[in-house]
Amino acid sequence: MPIKVLSAAAFFAVALSLTAQSPQPARRFDGQSWWNHVKFLADDSLGGRETGSEGLRKAESYVVDQFSKARLQPVGIDGFYQPVKFVSRQIVEKDSSASLIVSGKTDPLTLGEDACFATRAELSSDEVTASLAFVGYGLQIPEKNYDDLSGLDLHGKIIVYLAGSPSNIPTALASHYQTIGERWKSLKQAGVIGVITIPNPASMDIPWSRMSLNRAHPSMDLIGPEFDETQGLKMAMIFNPAQAEKLFAASGHTFTEIAAVGKDRQPLPHFPLQVSLKAHASVKTTPVESANIIGKLPGNDPALKNEYVVISAHVDHIGIGEPLNGDRIYNGAMDNASGVAVLLDLAAKFNAHSEQLRRSILFVIVTAEEKGLLGSKYFAAHPTVPPKSMIADINLDMFLPIVPLKVLKVPGLQESDLGDRAREAAQLFGVRVQPDPEPLRNVFIRSDQYNFIRHGVPALKLDFGYEPGSPEQRIFKDWLTNRYHAPSDDTSQPVDLAAAGLFEDIVRQLLISVANTDAKPQWKADSFFRRYSMEAAK
Ligand SMILES: [Zn+2]
Repeated sequence: MPIKVLSAAAFFAVALSLTAQSPQPARRFDGQSWWNHVKFLADDSLGGRETGSEGLRKAESYVVDQFSKARLQPVGIDGFYQPVKFVSRQIVEKDSSASLIVSGKTDPLTLGEDACFATRAELSSDEVTASLAFVGYGLQIPEKNYDDLSGLDLHGKIIVYLAGSPSNIPTALASHYQTIGERWKSLKQAGVIGVITIPNPASMDIPWSRMSLNRAHPSMDLIGPEFDETQGLKMAMIFNPAQAEKLFAASGHTFTEIAAVGKDRQPLPHFPLQVSLKAHASVKTTPVESANIIGKLPGNDPALKNEYVVISAHVDHIGIGEPLNGDRIYNGAMDNASGVAVLLDLAAKFNAHSEQLRRSILFVIVTAEEKGLLGSKYFAAHPTVPPKSMIADINLDMFLPIVPLKVLKVPGLQESDLGDRAREAAQLFGVRVQPDPEPLRNVFIRSDQYNFIRHGVPALKLDFGYEPGSPEQRIFKDWLTNRYHAPSDDTSQPVDLAAAGLFEDIVRQLLISVANTDAKPQWKADSFFRRYSMEAAK
C-alpha cells in the first residue's frame, strides 16, 4: 500500500489489530544447538566435505543419525540415502596451453595469471583455434526483445562476454538466462563453439587471485545425457579482468571502456575482435559417487499429508585446496554447515514438541551444490516422492547470521505468494523482509532452490539482509571478500547465536504456515517462473 494513502490513524489501527490477533509465537531456539551442529560439520576432521570425499560421508552419516533421532522417516532409495553419480574433471595444466593470435603473431597466455580453463563442461580434447567476437553480456532474452548476438556472424567463433546483465532486465529473468544451460542454448543456435567469460570487476564476490588459486580443483557433472546442457561446447575459459585488455587489441575498443559501462549495467556494444584464441585443454576425468539424504516428517491431515513442504540445504563444500594463510581446509562453516544445522535443529524440535502439521515436511539434504547445484538437479529430476506432491521449497544456503537479525533478505520474495507467507512469519517476530538488494550477484539461481523452480515448485531462499548504506552492508561485503570460499569460513569466525536462533524460529513458523494453510503456494501471475509450473502441469 502506498504510504500516501495510509493515514497515521489507519496505520495505528492496522498495527494494533496485528498485535491483537497475532501474538508472537513461542520461541524454540537460542542458537546453541544450531552452533553445536555447525561445529561438528565444519570440523577440520571432515576436511571441508568435498563431494565424494570421506569427510562428506562422515557429515552425511551424522545427518542420518540426527534424522533418525528426530524420528524422521527415511524416503531415499537406500534408507535416507539417494545415491548420485558424477564425473569429475580436473585440468592438467602442464599438458594444456592457450595463446592469443594477434595479426599473425602468437602471444602465449599464462594460465592462472591471464586466464584459466573452465572444466564444468566437457571440453574438446583437440586443440581449438577460432576467432573471437565480443557480445556484451552474451544474452538473448526474447521476453524483452533483448539480443546481444544479433548482427554478428558467430559461426565457428568463440565469444567473449562480460558476466552479468543489463539493469533494465528484471532480476529473475536475467538470472534465468544466465544459467549455463539457457545461455548455451542461444549461443549454440548461433553457431558458437566456445566462450570466454570476463568476470565483471564491479560484482566479483572473490578476487581473481583467489579464483585462480584453486583452478586445478576438480569440476563435476552428473552422468547421463539428460543432464548434458552444453553439448557442442568445445572450449570455455575465464579471463582475468585485469588482463582483459589483451582481448581487445586493435578492435577500436578497450576493456577499460567496457568495464566502465558494465559497472552500472548499461547496454554494451557488440563487435568482432581482431584476436583469435588457440587453446588445448588436457582434462583428467574420474567417476565419483555421492548421495542426497531425504527424510520425512508426516503430516496428519488425511488428504494433505500426501503433499510435501520441502526444506533443503546442501551439505557439501569444496574440501581441501591451496593454502591461504597456512590453512588448506575449506571448512564451509557458513557455506553451508549453517543451513544443514538449521534442518537438523528443526527436525529435533518438531520431534520434541509435536506441532499440528497438516501437510508433511520433506527434509532434503543435497550433495554437490558447489559443483553447480548438481545434487538438487538430480533430486528434482528423480524425486523420491511423487513430483507433483512437492508444493514448495524453502532453501537455506549460507544465510550468514553475522549481524543481529533486523532484516530478512528473501530472493524470490515477489515471485510467489510464498514470499507473502515469509513476510508474515518474519513480522510475527518483528523482522522486516526485503527482496534481493544485489541482483548482480544472481543468488536466485545460485543455489538449490533453482532446480525446484525449474520443475514448477514455488521456492524461496532466506538470508540475513541489511539496510543499504548501513554498517552491516560493509560487514557482508568484507565477509564475501575474505571468508567466502576461503579456509577462514570456519568455526573461529564471529557469529550471532541469538540471531541464528531467531532465524530458525522464523523458518519454523514459515514451514508451519505453509504446511497448514489450505491453499497451496502459487506463482504470482506476472512471475516469469510461473511458466515452469505450467509446463510441469502438462
Ligand atoms: Zn558455496
